[in-house]
Amino acid sequence: MELLYFAAFAFVIGLLFGSFMNVCLSRWPAGESIVKPGSHCRSCGHVLRWWENIPLLSWIVLRGRCRKCKAVIGWRYPAVELFCGFLFSTGTYKIMSNQLPDWHGLHFIWISVFIKCVLLMYFLWTLIALLFLDAENFWLPDRLTIPGIIIGLFLTSGLLDSIFVFLLYREPFDLDRRDITKAFLSTFAAGGLVLLIRLLYYLVRKQEGMGLGDAKLMAMLGAWLGWQRTLLSFVLGIFLAAAFALVLLFRGNPDDGDDSTKPAWALKQLPFGSFLCIGALLSYFFGGKLIALYLSAVGF
Ligand SMILES: [Zn+2]
Repeated sequence: MELLYFAAFAFVIGLLFGSFMNVCLSRWPAGESIVKPGSHCRSCGHVLRWWENIPLLSWIVLRGRCRKCKAVIGWRYPAVELFCGFLFSTGTYKIMSNQLPDWHGLHFIWISVFIKCVLLMYFLWTLIALLFLDAENFWLPDRLTIPGIIIGLFLTSGLLDSIFVFLLYREPFDLDRRDITKAFLSTFAAGGLVLLIRLLYYLVRKQEGMGLGDAKLMAMLGAWLGWQRTLLSFVLGIFLAAAFALVLLFRGNPDDGDDSTKPAWALKQLPFGSFLCIGALLSYFFGGKLIALYLSAVGF
């Protein structure tokens, strides 16, 4: 029961951070500050009152239009908020049901679970933001992927736990060299895989395939998810991208003016980073089951 309260709380936190993400998604690509000016309509500049700026609810109450100029506020706004809320609460639920054997347990466990939840929210937020940025602008900014790689490495190498233990108990760092090696190897291998594909593609086609942003995103996944789930994310991403391209290809009508460019666009430039992010989310939440399914299917 307590778990549900935590999940509901995480949902509200997700809505708020989703709202903040919408600001980033609209302003970063335009090179604007995310702090100044305050929330305003992007068509007429009307400054939003507090009640026009409540995640999800305001969009519903205003029926997706600006109160002043009636410009349409895209469905992306409530969708991002809802998506963030849903994933934050699902992730919190997953961590808490796995890692809290004793509700009245040690202080240490509570703090460590709390930190894990915060870190997971950070990871999920970054993935969702990258998903939309790549889909809307073909852009996977370094400001998200590079810190993502560093924080992920801190976490999975055990460095973060060590610092934590040191701060709390003044005990010396107890680092497992294998954890560190594993974290760095999967990070570099994941990034390197994309670089290799990029190189091969260039040698064969004499043009750029996957971007450097994709390589950094993969490295970030390697740092957070380990090599198995990262590979799974990659495979899922490719399948999803291929499925999407096929749908566009068959749906496109050549006589339809502008739409005739769509299939060509689909084959030329797909926001692969977006599909990779979806693959990573699936891999994080269902990776264990999917990998087990695969291994039993091939007879392990
Ligand atoms: Zn307006």
